[in-house]
Amino acid sequence: MNKKVIIGTEIIKNATGKIPTPFYLYDEAAIRENVRSFLAAFSWTPEFREFFAVKANPNPYLLKILREEGLGADCSSLPELILAQKAGIFGEKIVFTSNNTPIDEYAAAIAAGALINFDDVTHVDYVLQKIGKLPNFVSFRYNPGDARAGGNAIIGKPSEAKYGCTREQIFAAIKKCTSCGVQRFGLHTMVASNEMNMEWFIETARMMFELALDVFDNCGVKVELVNFGGGVGIPYRPEQSRLNLEQLGQEIKSIYNSLIAGSQLHPLKLAMECGRVILGPYGYLITQVLHHKKTYKDYVGVDACMAALMRPGLYGAYHHITVMGKENSPLTSTYDVVGSLCENNDKFAIDRSLPEVEIGDYLIIHDAGAHGHSMGFNYNGKLRPAEYIVRQDGTIAKIRREETIADYFATLDFDNL
Ligand SMILES: *Cc1c(COP(=O)(O)O)cnc(C)c1O
Repeated sequence: MNKKVIIGTEIIKNATGKIPTPFYLYDEAAIRENVRSFLAAFSWTPEFREFFAVKANPNPYLLKILREEGLGADCSSLPELILAQKAGIFGEKIVFTSNNTPIDEYAAAIAAGALINFDDVTHVDYVLQKIGKLPNFVSFRYNPGDARAGGNAIIGKPSEAKYGCTREQIFAAIKKCTSCGVQRFGLHTMVASNEMNMEWFIETARMMFELALDVFDNCGVKVELVNFGGGVGIPYRPEQSRLNLEQLGQEIKSIYNSLIAGSQLHPLKLAMECGRVILGPYGYLITQVLHHKKTYKDYVGVDACMAALMRPGLYGAYHHITVMGKENSPLTSTYDVVGSLCENNDKFAIDRSLPEVEIGDYLIIHDAGAHGHSMGFNYNGKLRPAEYIVRQDGTIAKIRREETIADYFATLDFDNL
């Protein structure tokens, strides 16, 4: 068993039994420690920003913790922008990385003083026409297309992804923005998701430094900020180990030193907008076993379902599961761990080796801190669970209540039926 699992289990034992299942539980001390080591890996930079991808976990209590640790926010919608502001994140600590964006969202993000990260060059004219002016600081999202042909499991081939602009489009758009008075520029890319190969990020950094230099040659513009996006993976499986961020930072440093340090672009601010690696390992979904069913397979039915954690059902993602109190028991049984949705892919695990499970056992579903609760939905009238946090002093606080049937009905007007 890996270390992470043991730490998680100790914390969860204190909460379970006192809180109705299913529920999410986050570990504040571990989150803070992780953010500090993440930032330390890039402390050599002239200036480094991590804009936490709010979609990964939009709970404002967690965003506030991240803000206290120095992070900004990467928002893609108006509600995400509002959540960031509620958590005390303002102005250039927010990057607005949307796509196919409606004008009211641009207007709100510009009014908030956020860094606008354009997904497409036509959006420059769209904003000019509808709002009348551009913000003074804009960024463009780069899609390298077949230059990064390898592709990444979740995000796919860049040339088939809907995001971002080509090199030539970026050059033209920056010239256009300059002629409209824009003075400050950033460049952004996001070409990976849950990627564990360090080489991928090193090459992304090189690609972006080269792009910034090309922008200088083509447009005479000194880019101020280069954002490598998110996508750093986490070890969902116990046999995997985490991506060595310290080493990644040092590898990027040596590329910075060879390409940028001696150029006109120095000092260049660097940024990332990771979600998963910031919170993923520090959130757990706790669920209790309701039923044990044996037909052609052996099913363990739990009181959470895919509506609370969609990743396994959506893309067959692995989430490690431990049985509370049986952490060291031999894995003698093989189960499908299932929820109650009328969808056969509502399975947290398929053919999973576990200790023998009994009705009433608590299962801990690991690495649910990012893209977990936030991907929840209400299909089949399923209600999303509450979220709790273990504070640094060991106390447990509720940071989002469970949904109720009244919430589910809130958009309906039964009186005028
Ligand atoms: C989803 C997303 C991220 C965060 O991805 P992680 O895998 O959670 O790091 C960052 N930036 C953009 C634009 C995204 O769409």
